[in-house]
Amino acid sequence: MTQSHATTTVAQLIAEGLAPPEAQAALEQVAETFRIRLTPQMRAVAGAEGIARQFVPGAEELVVRPEELADPIGDHAFSPAPGLTHRYPDRVILAATQTCEVYCRFCFRRETVGSDGALPEADLAQALDHVARHPEIWEVILTGGDPLSLSPRRIAALLARIAAIPHVQVVRFHTRVPVVAPERITPALIEALEVRPAVYVVVHCNHPDELTEAAGDALRRLSRAGVPLLAQTVLLRGVNDRAEVLEALFRGLIARRVKPYYLHHCDLAKGTGHFRTTLAEGQALMAALRGRLSGICLPTYVLDLPGGAGKVPVGPNYLAPGDAAGEHLVTDWQGGVHRYRDPG
Ligand code: SF4
Repeated sequence: MTQSHATTTVAQLIAEGLAPPEAQAALEQVAETFRIRLTPQMRAVAGAEGIARQFVPGAEELVVRPEELADPIGDHAFSPAPGLTHRYPDRVILAATQTCEVYCRFCFRRETVGSDGALPEADLAQALDHVARHPEIWEVILTGGDPLSLSPRRIAALLARIAAIPHVQVVRFHTRVPVVAPERITPALIEALEVRPAVYVVVHCNHPDELTEAAGDALRRLSRAGVPLLAQTVLLRGVNDRAEVLEALFRGLIARRVKPYYLHHCDLAKGTGHFRTTLAEGQALMAALRGRLSGICLPTYVLDLPGGAGKVPVGPNYLAPGDAAGEHLVTDWQGGVHRYRDPG
């Protein structure tokens, strides 16, 4: 029988057979800095290595490598108000809450997520005032934490305040909720999302075993309501760093009407080195998937530059300079090389 409560302590992890008793001391040390939480939905499939590794803490998290950072993508360097990041001219990131339904062991915001509750009203007012005073802001990206961990009432109130800013045309939610806590996708929540500006939902999903029947039902409820669905995935060693795993994941998402959008290279968050592949490994995986998967299944592989300079597509590259002016050498999906000359 599925238990209804979340797993939040090392003692529970051991009692539920998700961690060995001899690891208790090290895991208690990890838990002092990085919070633990698995929903019943994810605990039910945590027997799979690709799930357990994402949510069950490990002693490797105590190892901080010299290149790892507290704020790996520079959220704070571009923050004009608490909870707000304004890195690109036309969009802002608003951390509406620091609470999540699960705490992912590789999270790039692991230094900030985990406190309870929504952004305080004074901070939220300051953030929305910044958005209102900048007419170039076209899109508000709600993240955190997980914005769909807020109640439908709070979400509706927040969307109403954003809707009152006429130049904001799109609100994007970045969330794990439809997959890790699908029971939260209720009629009340869906009603809250049916507003102007247009709401997009970007589902964070890393392994095909996350796509349970209940997750599929939750995604169907959202797509039936007309909410466009995208997915972002983090490339993680030991979770999804094999072409067949990524293939099953991307096919599974597309079959559930969710478009894979970004495959993120794992950021330089503290204590996450055991998850990080090399860029060359990521490029080789993307190259292996090209041709094997329909183009609609393929996300863009991106690196978020440390320090806050933004996301950059990192390949693989299929073009090289040819011998003559205007000539290119183009590699096809099977490795064949072809000459292409620009007209004129
Ligand atoms: S749900 Fe998102 S924000 Fe929360 S811990 Fe996981 S990756 Fe981080």
